[in-house]
Amino acid sequence: MSCVSPESKPDWKAYVLRELGQDAHRQAEAHLATCSICHEEVATLRLTLDTLSTLREEEMPRRIAFVSDKVFEPRWWQRVFNPTFAAGVLVAVAILIHGFMGTGHTSQDQVDAAVTKAVSQVEARHMQEIRAMSEELDVRNKQVANMYRNAVLSR
Ligand SMILES: [Zn+2]
Repeated sequence: MSCVSPESKPDWKAYVLRELGQDAHRQAEAHLATCSICHEEVATLRLTLDTLSTLREEEMPRRIAFVSDKVFEPRWWQRVFNPTFAAGVLVAVAILIHGFMGTGHTSQDQVDAAVTKAVSQVEARHMQEIRAMSEELDVRNKQVANMYRNAVLSR
């Protein structure tokens, strides 16, 4: 199927954009009333135009963003929920609470002692983890040695 009279087919883009003169516009409407193919073409053009008009409201980017730009930095809530940051806040709050309780006055020595205690606890835990890993490694080494010896003996 094609246009009933392709030789007198109006410029449908101009028609949809209302850029045709009065006479041309009237002729186009007359053609449209009789030609289903052009009717469909105009419907498609109007749909495209409507779609474009909804997009037009979006703001165009002013420039290309760089990775170093502020928009790429984590937002405050992403930082707050970061485990390292959360742990830091927890320690700070614990120190503050410790400071406000009891005498109501905290000397630098007390703060230092609290920090030293917290740090030594973390260090002790790390040492424990390292010792456990070392023991695990010893066990694995013995297993590998046994496997090797068995392999050599079974030859
Ligand atoms: Zn037509």
